[in-house]
Amino acid sequence: MMQNDVVVVGGGISGLTLAFYCVQAGMKTSLLEKGDSIGGSFASPEYSANGKKFWLELGAHTCYSSYQNLLDIVEACGVTDTIIPRAKVPFTLLVNDQIKSIVSQLNIVELLLNGSNIFKLKKDGESVKSYYSKIVGEKNYNNVISHFFNAVPSQKTDDFPADMMFKSREKRKDVLKNYTFKHGLQGVAKAIAAKRNLNVFTNQDVNSITMENGQYIIKSAHGGEYSAKTLVMATPSAVSSKLLQGTYADIARHLGQLKAATVDSVGVIVRKEHVSIKPVAAIISPNDIFFSIVSRDTVPDDNYRGFSFHFKPGLDDKTKRARITEVLGVSFAKIEHTESRVNTVPSLRMGHHEWHEKINALLKGQKSLLLTGNYFGGMAIEDCVSRSKSEFERLSK
Ligand SMILES: Cc1cc2nc3c(=O)[nH]c(=O)nc-3n(C[C@H](O)[C@H](O)[C@H](O)COP(=O)(O)OP(=O)(O)OC[C@H]3O[C@@H](n4cnc5c(N)ncnc54)[C@H](O)[C@@H]3O)c2cc1C
Repeated sequence: MMQNDVVVVGGGISGLTLAFYCVQAGMKTSLLEKGDSIGGSFASPEYSANGKKFWLELGAHTCYSSYQNLLDIVEACGVTDTIIPRAKVPFTLLVNDQIKSIVSQLNIVELLLNGSNIFKLKKDGESVKSYYSKIVGEKNYNNVISHFFNAVPSQKTDDFPADMMFKSREKRKDVLKNYTFKHGLQGVAKAIAAKRNLNVFTNQDVNSITMENGQYIIKSAHGGEYSAKTLVMATPSAVSSKLLQGTYADIARHLGQLKAATVDSVGVIVRKEHVSIKPVAAIISPNDIFFSIVSRDTVPDDNYRGFSFHFKPGLDDKTKRARITEVLGVSFAKIEHTESRVNTVPSLRMGHHEWHEKINALLKGQKSLLLTGNYFGGMAIEDCVSRSKSEFERLSK
């Protein structure tokens, strides 16, 4: 059995960054990931044909100058020079299968009548719906803006706490306002995983966690066995809840209260000449079978264009394919490559701050158990890294 100071379960950005802090502090750390590659919602699969390479994002796509903890890690991994700008292309709406600008769909009079509320109202204690419908007007919220918000976590966001949706954070002035990386965001995940002294094991679907003589024993479905003094759970809340039932019943129960949505993402790569849609950052479609299509037009390529459709769960391949070809206006035969992935995104609700305080209280006396993920202070990449940082600080205090 492999002995460690720390075992991290889950190889998304939350688990990777917590592992990074542990390795930097000289702890012998192993990270166990269920999938065959690390990154989780940081998936930037690369396609190559006839000597040409092209990647596209199946999950997260944009980082900001306010992602200070992430930027510190990017610097420490020596990959700051892989930061690249995103081209300024618009976020759009699909209305009756026509691509329209978001502004063209807004009622400007309603917007002007309500807009000044942005200086008066606070987000605290407000839901996304109650806050933003007072800022843009109720009709604008229902007809346009709510669909834009729903596209962010690929689910209905009316009841999300308003202060968890888009946070204002201090920005770094020496970094691009928004950016990605030369090989997509997964490049950052790979740079962390390449850290010396970090042992990364993929295809490790962890299915049992027990305690023996003050050590955690972590087992995976494929027969892997690891022991550690400190356990980090960096999986979706439902997975962490299930795995902790035998060792931390209270914490498992509290984790089990959270809900999450699955996002069924299909990325398609097409030769440029086959698609006539003008360059876009994303296409959001109200009341469709998908929440959004995120495009690779933000990093233009000479040969290909890429579009990731973030579908509602439970659809069959035929239905998804039909909608992809309809929206892009290409036959399926013209699609050169497809990639699929299912991501889990938390369904944050009003009252989440209280839930968050309670989980921190439950963890207070448990120094050997760290919990990180996208379901604490928010789901943005920086929220995940900040959670990992604060959990590491709790360990090292
Ligand atoms: C479509 C989409 C677009 C997004 N866009 C942005 C964006 O542009 N900017 C932004 O800031 N944020 C964005 N986000 C949010 C952000 O990307 C995620 O919240 C964040 O990446 C989640 O990281 P995580 O490590 O907490 O979880 P995940 O990435 O879900 O990682 C959890 C990992 O745990 C693994 N796992 C699960 N069960 C087990 C098990 N039993 N054993 C071992 N491993 C297991 C999973 O395979 C997975 O790799 C987006 C999210 C999605 C889904």
